[in-house]
Amino acid sequence: MSQTLSVIEPATEAVLEELPRAGVEEVDAAVARAKAALPAWRSLSPGDRAAALRRIADAVEAQLEDLATLEARNAGKPITDAQGEIGMVVDTFRYYAGAPERLLGDTIPVAGGMAFTVREPLGVVGLIVPWNFPLTIAAWKLAPALAAGNTVVLKPAELTPLSALAFERIALEAGLPEGVVNVVVGPGSVCGTRMVEHPDIAKIAFTGSTEVGRTIAAGAAQTIKRVTLELGGKSANVVFADADIEAAAAAAPGAAFGNAGQDCCARSRILVERPIVDRFLAAMDDAVQQIRVGDPLDASTAMGPLISAGQREQVAAYAPDDAPIAIRGKAPDGPGYWYPPTVLCPIDADAPAAVEEIFGPIVVVIPFDSEARAIELANDTIYGLSGSVWTRDGAKALRVCRAIETGNLSINSNTSVRVATPFGGFKQSGVGRELGPHALDHYTEIKTIFYATGAQ
Ligand code: NAD
Repeated sequence: MSQTLSVIEPATEAVLEELPRAGVEEVDAAVARAKAALPAWRSLSPGDRAAALRRIADAVEAQLEDLATLEARNAGKPITDAQGEIGMVVDTFRYYAGAPERLLGDTIPVAGGMAFTVREPLGVVGLIVPWNFPLTIAAWKLAPALAAGNTVVLKPAELTPLSALAFERIALEAGLPEGVVNVVVGPGSVCGTRMVEHPDIAKIAFTGSTEVGRTIAAGAAQTIKRVTLELGGKSANVVFADADIEAAAAAAPGAAFGNAGQDCCARSRILVERPIVDRFLAAMDDAVQQIRVGDPLDASTAMGPLISAGQREQVAAYAPDDAPIAIRGKAPDGPGYWYPPTVLCPIDADAPAAVEEIFGPIVVVIPFDSEARAIELANDTIYGLSGSVWTRDGAKALRVCRAIETGNLSINSNTSVRVATPFGGFKQSGVGRELGPHALDHYTEIKTIFYATGAQ
């Protein structure tokens, strides 16, 4: 295997940077640094740990424009999206800066003394993240892990390591002690596997494909490592005939083509009540034609290229020449991994494009005839990450939301992720929750202490 790794800019196919490629030795060294830094970090007073997180938030905010440009270039995402994502990194650190002083326990009435619980850090935590929202997803793990007193080894995706490396430098400059955050840039099959096996790593927090998630869960079983897994999705966007149809159709492209469809929460199956299918598609067509696909660094761009040539090839296979293309937007020619926003309809509910996670800008539209059928279609998937319900009937909206087996739903909206609310999947979309107060449960162990008083 080559000793260096070329980081490519997907909009130009040019090499952005050459980096040394880490292997097992570098992972072991990073784990050793994290282990050495653990005693001091976990015993820092809660207020001091909170202050350290706030300083990181301030330092990232001060460099928001540079970080956003780096992320936009490396991941091929529109600069306005990248600015929002780095803004979320700042918000995530500010939110979890409130946590060290609020890691509360319980006192529990028992005979013969006092029983109470405390929350202990897990130790060294391994963070493995994908390329679609590189620093944002890293921050969802870094901030609660550090707040709870853990030290970390972070492995970004090989395709998008630059923002993680920049973050490591910024955190050190902001006063984070050496060894608390350690970034390792190398292949998942080597570095990721070593992290999963490593006896000194207490937990793996992983975001990526369901396929790799399965391997990680199996590997982690050897050392009974804790795991949280944020995996793939094939989320349904259910549009009833009594919805604000124009609003639903105007919003649907953003929910399917945002980040060029490389979004685990993409509403990539649009289920539309049969009487309004034509009206919905006509309104959606207008919206798709308005999507500006192009230079990620242009502030008017809404969609950039795909991450790599391989990703584009995989995506394109779902819409061959004889595919039922109902709507197709535009994409630039020339260098860059471009692919136009594409809507497939009519299509069978069991066609590969309607079943598999495409992770690109292709969405299917499937009609339904009843509330029960909409729920059945929405649940007919191994995944359960996100979803939307569009209707003006509040009781129906809530009924359908309770019936859909998925972790995050929105009514008359396509949003999924907020710093303050738990995020994660049902079924094969994952295990555990990130963000909100719940993430802290996955970065701490509960310890029960009994103090004998002699009294009954
Ligand atoms: P991936 O699973 O290929 O890679 C994710 C990370 O795992 C990378 O850092 C990679 O190097 C590492 N990895 C690969 N093989 C490994 C192994 N055997 N052991 C340990 N680590 C290994 O995913 P990707 O292509 O980078 O990202 C796309 C996938 O991520 C999609 O399926 C998407 O739905 C999912 N995703 C999920 C969420 C969520 O929150 N649920 C968010 C974003 C992306």
